[in-house]
Amino acid sequence: MAHILGNITGAFRKNAPLEVLTHPNPLLYQKCEEIDIAHDEDLPSLVKGLVQAMRTFDGVGLAASQAGILKRVLIYDISESQDEPQVLINPVITDHSEELSTADEGCLSFPNIYFPVTRPSRVTVKAYDVAGEPILLEDIEGLLARVVQHECDHLDGVMIVDRAKPHIRKTALRTYATYEYQPEEYITIVDAQTFEAEISPGAIAHGANGETIIFAHDEAIDE
Ligand SMILES: [Zn+2]
Repeated sequence: MAHILGNITGAFRKNAPLEVLTHPNPLLYQKCEEIDIAHDEDLPSLVKGLVQAMRTFDGVGLAASQAGILKRVLIYDISESQDEPQVLINPVITDHSEELSTADEGCLSFPNIYFPVTRPSRVTVKAYDVAGEPILLEDIEGLLARVVQHECDHLDGVMIVDRAKPHIRKTALRTYATYEYQPEEYITIVDAQTFEAEISPGAIAHGANGETIIFAHDEAIDE
């Protein structure tokens, strides 16, 4: 625990590798502050450190708050080659579609547990790059829209469990609390309502790729 809570001040040391904080570290649940791009001397090295950490932990996105730095900066890389990192500073979602889409999401701060999260299918995002030049991501969709919304949530202290249906959230938190982290082990939480067959609450199955599947039921809420 001391390890996880080590970076509690949010102080940023140049050249020190960044750690990725995990739930329930309180810094993950705080709102980040806007960056004064022209005067923030630490910004270039912070972005560099975030890219390094994202690669080390094999993520597709990372927000500064996940490294304990409460500043509004996020990075993502959804390229096949994982060598096209993009940075968004002070991002704002200015528009979103009424249409929603649901897909399994995971988070480096809630490691190895995946579950369905519903979000607007398309969004428009305004942000800045490290030089202070404006960036406009207009009507983005698919994985890009999902990753950017996920990382923007981090900047507001919102984690994926906060976006899940209540019974999925409860199963995810309970699973997280009881499970011993194994680097190569993956757990997927499935909404049992999406299956016609009767599956008993908390039933566990194994997926084609060896992952553990836990079926979450509505009734689990009243337990
Ligand atoms: Zn995340």
